[in-house]
This record gives sequence, structure tokens and C-alpha cells, in this order.
Amino acid sequence: MKTPNTLLAATGTTIFTVMSALAAEHRSINLGQGFPDTDGPEDVLRAAADALFDGRNQYPPMTGVPELRQAVAAANARFYGLTVDPASEVVVTSGATEAITACLMALLDPGDEVVLIEPLYDTYLPVVRLLGAVPKLVRLTPPRWELPRAALAAAFGPRTKALLLNTPMNPTGKVFTAAELAFIAELLQKNDAYAVCDEVYEHLTYDGWRHIPLMTLPGLRERCLRIGSAGKTFSLTGWKVGYATVPAALGPLVAKAHQNLTFTTPPNLQRAVAVGLAKDDAYFAGLAADLAARRDRLSAGLAALGMGVLPTMGSYFVTADYAPLGFDGDDVAFCRHITEHAGVTAIPLSAFYATEAPRHHARFAFCKRPEVLDEAVARLARHFGAASQDASGRGRALTGTG
Ligand code: PMP
Ligand code: GLN
Repeated sequence: MKTPNTLLAATGTTIFTVMSALAAEHRSINLGQGFPDTDGPEDVLRAAADALFDGRNQYPPMTGVPELRQAVAAANARFYGLTVDPASEVVVTSGATEAITACLMALLDPGDEVVLIEPLYDTYLPVVRLLGAVPKLVRLTPPRWELPRAALAAAFGPRTKALLLNTPMNPTGKVFTAAELAFIAELLQKNDAYAVCDEVYEHLTYDGWRHIPLMTLPGLRERCLRIGSAGKTFSLTGWKVGYATVPAALGPLVAKAHQNLTFTTPPNLQRAVAVGLAKDDAYFAGLAADLAARRDRLSAGLAALGMGVLPTMGSYFVTADYAPLGFDGDDVAFCRHITEHAGVTAIPLSAFYATEAPRHHARFAFCKRPEVLDEAVARLARHFGAASQDASGRGRALTGTG
């Protein structure tokens, strides 16, 4: 038999699926894969249900139903002051995942270079490689996750077609600052490159941190492809409705990529997301305030255990260094260990790196009910408390293999 696609054969099943399956097997509290444990707003759910029954269940327009494209354009104006033409500059996709692939397909030819920032979301690298493009990796390092400006500048060259930027960032919770974005903008212009901007956590920022779309910087309107996700904005991750806001010149290319990937996205969900995007400012502020409180709750709990909790400015995630717990193993072993022995699941940070990575950090999702977060912390406290009090101690309860 001839070998099927070598790149896919070499790509593992996503860590989110692996850890969620392990969590289910051990009935552990799943703070791994990032999804809320309560559904999003009732009016949005109702709109989706109602929309199933009014006779518009055949293929919708390829780039999205007019209601949603208009709502995406209006949200761009309301939140960021961007003027967007709903007919030519918005493409609705089946999740941000599809939008990322469609935008990369629209830009890249084989051999083009793409600058990626580690730690990175797990679909970026396989898709860039499947398109025959060449990834150029630049790394942020804990605990500060600062942009290494010289390394970033050095990653750009004459063959650079695009940068993929994720802010607010998964898994670090970093929100790129105005100064960092200005530096990136200069590099893009100097090197005549595009930016695919994964902004799925755009409304999930805390402590006064404000998300700034790279697209709003002077001179970047025509270089940026800005991606949002209803999954995060309305706590409905299973819906898989994404939207790309793109320059008019690239709209037809993104649409043609989408046409070959999924062609269209369920019309009732699109219409409900349009209702969601029109919700008042209090909804968006409330979502962020609510998640900030959950972040604080989980961060405080993990810190009280002695873990080195890193600050989170946005997203669903908090990252913590577990070395102070005395666990003797790498992050994959740690996440497996706490799933099996403490009844709590997290994601190993090394899953977000292409090569050699920090090996003693885990990512915990805090988009869960407060009582669930409390129970997770209590379970970890019981486990590590008991283990550290055991005289035969570290060896027995805290080994990476146990
Ligand atoms: N980008 C990032 C950074 C994410 O964390 C996620 C997670 N869901 C996605 C993209 C995918 O979004 P969607 O579920 O809308 O496909
Ligand atoms: N974005 C989610 C996370 O980072 C997971 C999405 C997925 O499972 N593909 O946890």
C-alpha cells in the first residue's frame, strides 16, 4: 500500500481530545480542554431554536447569512471603530478553526515563510505545513511571556508572507500591548507581510486590559485578517461559528478557501450569533467580569497549594508552575498523574511548543462554575497535602510514573 499523507500520519491526535478522553475515563474534573460548563445566553439559544422552524434550512449564502455579516461589521465598528463592508469584507466560517485555515490558504503558496509565536495553538503548525509553507518559530518564555523583539525581527525575511498572531493568547493568557503591536506593525510593513490575527478571546480580557486588534493600527487595515469565534464570545463552543474580517482585496480568496473546506455554516446558528453580537455592552462587560472572578478564584486556589501561578490578562486559561509541589516528572506525566490520582485534568504546556519546551507548567481552564473550581482545588489540596505528609512521600505519591 502506498503511504497516505505523511504530514497527517506524523500529527498526533490533539491534546484536547486526548486529555478530555482521559478525564472522562477517570471521571475527573476537566480543566483541560477550554469550554464553559454552562451554556451561553438564553436569547441566543432561543434565536437558534426559533430559526430552525422558519423554513431557512437549506444552504445559506456561501460567505454567511446577511444578518450575521452585517452584525460582524457592526461589532467591528462598535468595539474597534473599524469600517467594514459586510458584503465584501466578512466571511463566516465553521468555527475560528476553519477561518484560520481559510485565511492561511488565501495567503500562502508552497515555500512561503510564516512567522509563528510559541507557545502556539495546536492547529497552526500542521496547517502551515500542509500548505507547503515554512514555519519560522519565535518563542515567548515564562514567566513574563515578553515579546523577544530582536528574535521576532530576525524571523522575518524576503520570503515572509505572513505572521500568525494570537491575542489574547492561548495558553499564556497574554494580551499583547499597544507597544508590542506597534513593533509588529512596523515589521509587517517593512517586510510587506500579512497578519492572520486569531482574536477568538477578543472579549475575554481582565483588569482593564483592552484587546487591540492589529487591524486597527495605522496602515494595517489592508494587511490583517481578523478572526473571531462565537464559541468564546457566547460560551457556545460546540456551535463552531467563526467570522473573518478581511480586506476587500482578500475577501474573494478567503471565500474560495471556505468554499473548498465547508462551503457554508448552519444558517440557524449564524442567525442566532447575529442576535448575540447585537447584545448590549453590559453583556460583553458582564462576560469578562464573570470570567475574571473565576480566574481569581482558581488562581488563588492553585497559589495556596504552592503552585507558581502566572498572571492571566485574557482568555480562558491560567498557567501554573507545579515544580513547588515536588512532583517528580514532566508536564505530560503531571497532567496524567493529577487526572488519574487527584481527579483533576489540565493540559501540559509543552503541547503548545513544536520542539523543546518548558516542562513543568500546566494550563488550567477557569471557564467553569465556581463550585467546580473550588472542588478541583480541594481535590488537588487533598492529593498533594496527603502526599507531602506521607513520610515515604515524594517517591510514592508524587512520581511521574505512578
Ligand atoms: N484559536 C484559539 C487560540 C483557540 O483557543 C481556539 C479554541 N477553541 C480556536 C482558535 C478555535 O475556535 P473555534 O472553536 O471557533 O473553531
Ligand atoms: N481551544 C480549546 C483549548 O485550547 C480547545 C478546542 C479544541 O479542543 N480543539 O482548550
